[in-house]
Amino acid sequence: MKITAAVMEKADGVVTRRSIKLEEVDLDGPREDEVLVRITSCGVCGTDRGCLHGQEPYPAPGVLGHEGAGTIEAVGRLVDNVKVGDRVLLGFPFCGTCPSCRRGKPRYCVHGSDLMFSGFRLDGSSPMKRAGGEALAARFFQQSSWATHTIAQARQVVRVPDGMDADLLGPLGCSITTGAGTVLNELKPRPNSSIAIFGAGNVGLAAVMAAALTPATRIIVVDKNADRLALARELGATDAVEHDGDTVQRIKDLTNGELDYAVEATDGSNLVAEAVEALGVLGTCAMVGGAKASAPVKLHHGDMLHAGKTLTGVMGGGGTTPDFHLALMHLHAQGRFPLDRLVRRYPFAEVNQAIDDSDAGSAIKPILMM
Ligand SMILES: [Zn+2]
Ligand SMILES: [Zn+2]
Repeated sequence: MKITAAVMEKADGVVTRRSIKLEEVDLDGPREDEVLVRITSCGVCGTDRGCLHGQEPYPAPGVLGHEGAGTIEAVGRLVDNVKVGDRVLLGFPFCGTCPSCRRGKPRYCVHGSDLMFSGFRLDGSSPMKRAGGEALAARFFQQSSWATHTIAQARQVVRVPDGMDADLLGPLGCSITTGAGTVLNELKPRPNSSIAIFGAGNVGLAAVMAAALTPATRIIVVDKNADRLALARELGATDAVEHDGDTVQRIKDLTNGELDYAVEATDGSNLVAEAVEALGVLGTCAMVGGAKASAPVKLHHGDMLHAGKTLTGVMGGGGTTPDFHLALMHLHAQGRFPLDRLVRRYPFAEVNQAIDDSDAGSAIKPILMM
């Protein structure tokens, strides 16, 4: 079928600013374990921008977008978790059969990197082609949802309950779940504990909203952007720290040196070392930020050893997928997880503007409306 996709081009091997153009392309039907989704909205996430700006490798010509939401238009022969007409959001891809998937840890699927960043199915194929027949790298996170329609794995699709605004909920596919899941699934703050969240972008602010749902009593947010710090306070942060050379000491002062948890959720600033240093004895830091994959992290041996600190990576919020997505949807509907406060909607044709605004920090969570 003919669809419209936002195709990213490379010039001399480099993706240039505003290199995305809407284009009519051909889309195959779903395989037996896949679904055809008419995409109605898709978020712009840090990882899309990371691929555009060279922090993560992604082939071009290709199609980005990995926070899609839409309506099921066709299902493969073996699909039984959704049906035609269901409103869905598209979550993380996973193989379903590797050791991690069998252990109930699909976020750590051993094929995760290929499923997210190769641009193709694991067998090297793509369901999307240009009019001339050139295959597009159109399996970003196995969904490439900056398009009017896409093919996704049935297992990565989550049904949105009737009456909910699916177009607002697409970011539960990645950024929002990453921030909230890190707090609620992994760190699980204990009563009267303290947590510091570095970075008040979409991931960090989701972590703030999640922390506000826990018995942690000190929620410190760190950023350079005063507007975002103010918003973080409205969303539940008890303390806002403008990042500078004294940030670690200020957190130690606020917590009497006993910070229990830290979340490093910056968009590439790589403040992991500061987040770990700010921890008190037996503290835990979760790293979820958008630093370049090869970025080094420098820790102090004695500080880690003598204070019994833990540093852990968390992918996509950890946890198991469908129940957690449903929990966040219901919490949002109840007004207890107001993710709409982060969102600005853009027409699909303004995809480059949405990226620019996200890069500039003026939009926290752009959502493209198809
Ligand atoms: Zn797997
Ligand atoms: Zn993402």
